[in-house]
Amino acid sequence: MAKKQFKTESKKLLDLMINSIYTNREIFLRELISNASDALDKRHYMSLTDSSYNSSDPLHVFLEINKEERTLSIEDNGIGMDKEGLETNLGTIAHSGSGDFKQQLESGNEVDIIGQFGVGFYSAFMVAKKIIVDTKQVGKPGYRWISEGQDGYQIEETDREKVGTKITLYLRDDTEDVNYSEYLDSYKVELLVKKYSDYIRYPIQMLVEKTQPKEGSEDEYETVSELKTLNSMVPLWRRNKKDITEEDYNSFYKTKFYDWENPLKTIHYSLEGNVSYKALLYIPSRIPYNFYSKDYEAGLQLYSKGVFVMDHAKDLIPDYYSFVRGLIDTDDVSLNISREILQQNTQLQTLRKSITKKIKSALVDMLIKERDKYEEFFKNFGNSLKYGIYQDYGINKDELKDLLIFPSSHEDKYVTLKEYKERMKEGQNEIFYCTGSSIEQIKRQPQIEKLLAKGYEVLYFINEIDEFSVMMMRDYDGKQFKSAQKADSSIETEEEKQKKENLQKDNQSLLNDMKEALNGKVSDVRISSRLESNPVCLVAEDNGISMEMEKYLSQLPEGDKAKANKILEINPDHEIFKVLQNAYQKDESAVKDYTNILYQQALLIEGFPVDDPVELANKICDLIKKASN
Ligand code: ADP
Repeated sequence: MAKKQFKTESKKLLDLMINSIYTNREIFLRELISNASDALDKRHYMSLTDSSYNSSDPLHVFLEINKEERTLSIEDNGIGMDKEGLETNLGTIAHSGSGDFKQQLESGNEVDIIGQFGVGFYSAFMVAKKIIVDTKQVGKPGYRWISEGQDGYQIEETDREKVGTKITLYLRDDTEDVNYSEYLDSYKVELLVKKYSDYIRYPIQMLVEKTQPKEGSEDEYETVSELKTLNSMVPLWRRNKKDITEEDYNSFYKTKFYDWENPLKTIHYSLEGNVSYKALLYIPSRIPYNFYSKDYEAGLQLYSKGVFVMDHAKDLIPDYYSFVRGLIDTDDVSLNISREILQQNTQLQTLRKSITKKIKSALVDMLIKERDKYEEFFKNFGNSLKYGIYQDYGINKDELKDLLIFPSSHEDKYVTLKEYKERMKEGQNEIFYCTGSSIEQIKRQPQIEKLLAKGYEVLYFINEIDEFSVMMMRDYDGKQFKSAQKADSSIETEEEKQKKENLQKDNQSLLNDMKEALNGKVSDVRISSRLESNPVCLVAEDNGISMEMEKYLSQLPEGDKAKANKILEINPDHEIFKVLQNAYQKDESAVKDYTNILYQQALLIEGFPVDDPVELANKICDLIKKASN
């Protein structure tokens, strides 16, 4: 029979497994048992509506060790695979289409690959030199899949009668470094099952040898084999909280949700009432590799009375909590509920509300009691909450506003809006913010100099979504949000305002000529009251889009290339202003060049590209030449 080749990515992964230096080889058993358990779930599910899927044996996983042959087999009476199934499931890997996966594979970083993607069936090649898969589905012939790794696999039809799958691993020979024979030790195998697969809902059984007194004899013993169930089978979430260790929660999370890091937060609770359910929810401690791609499947697992119903039930949580992984177990939905029916289920609305409330209170609790942890959480998933505010015309803004934190000028810490409001200065009516690409960059923004000098707190907006979400909110508890980079300044004293207006009048012709020199690039040139050490800055007109939004829109592949209406502001107390005034007396054309340089400089500080870099460079060179004359 002709050998078939593995697909490229599979082959690479296989090579990696075969040459694995991953010390955690033992996880292969967990992977194979999880697959068996999934297959049992599928059969159970089918049997609900189709009696030909009923099994005369109870659904179970059977492990068998054969020391002579050096084999360990994992057999289930689950759904089985047909020929196409073998071909597509074992010849290719689920993640092989994803760019991230390819990248990791190229980099050969196997710890990341195993951790992030869960290599599943292929992990068996870390311990086996040859694998045989015997399998059969209801109403189809049996098939055997054989592979010795790199050089491909064969599939042949067999006369297997049992529905389900048996995977036989021919263990590798021991080496100086690795003792593969330990997987032939029933005690070791039992330990591994307890460690990784204790909660599997089906019995994982194995024949275990036992020495006992011979019947009818007092001093003679005999060895008998006994079928032993190795796992406790009580799903973790159905166990009593006080009997569960953090380690239990963590290892369950990692196995079930394919993460290699412990979760940041575990939320386990049980509710009785309008709708009764148990929930085991996790907040990951890092962003899933595909979180921002459309590959990411949000939603919780749904169980009914401890039996798996469906994965990724999206309607159980709102979008803005899509980072939450976990499961819900409720007696109130029927086992064979479909996604469509689930959507219309009124119980579901109650369930969703209740879950949403619990997640929020867990977050609030973390915000109050574990601030560092919350900041870590927020750095990863804060944008989801901000999108939540922005989405659906702001319908969830009240729900989410108190979960937001922003870096702020107040002791350079993350602050909540409530904290900001409580600290507001007397007479301050607005919440000030400044946008930029990083905290460091914002701190150097000219527009916030006076604000900070006068002791106002400024929120630093470093994400594009920040400004959009506060615009959606409009205000927080009656206090409007106010950009430091917009024209109107509400912190001027009457005196400062007067001084500004006088200077404006006195220098009107200079300012007009400067505006003209910029030839429509700005809508005005004005005397500023917001600057301290900087000579000039740009601000956007109050009505209309902000400069940050202009940058954002310009990145979009298509659509609105709208621009902010910019105003160039000049610091009247800066030496440069005196220079401009003097130059204006002598040589009006010099002022034109200076204005252009100052404008380009303000653009740069603001994070915009300059209009014409070559022209700017030439002008600066001219200035240097003049200075040396
Ligand atoms: P994953 O489990 O992440 O999908 P695997 O490589 O472990 O990836 O398995 C690939 C697929 O092979 C599974 O999704 C399933 O369809 C099939 N499969 C694996 N083991 C079994 C089994 N014991 N019974 C039925 N199908 C199986």
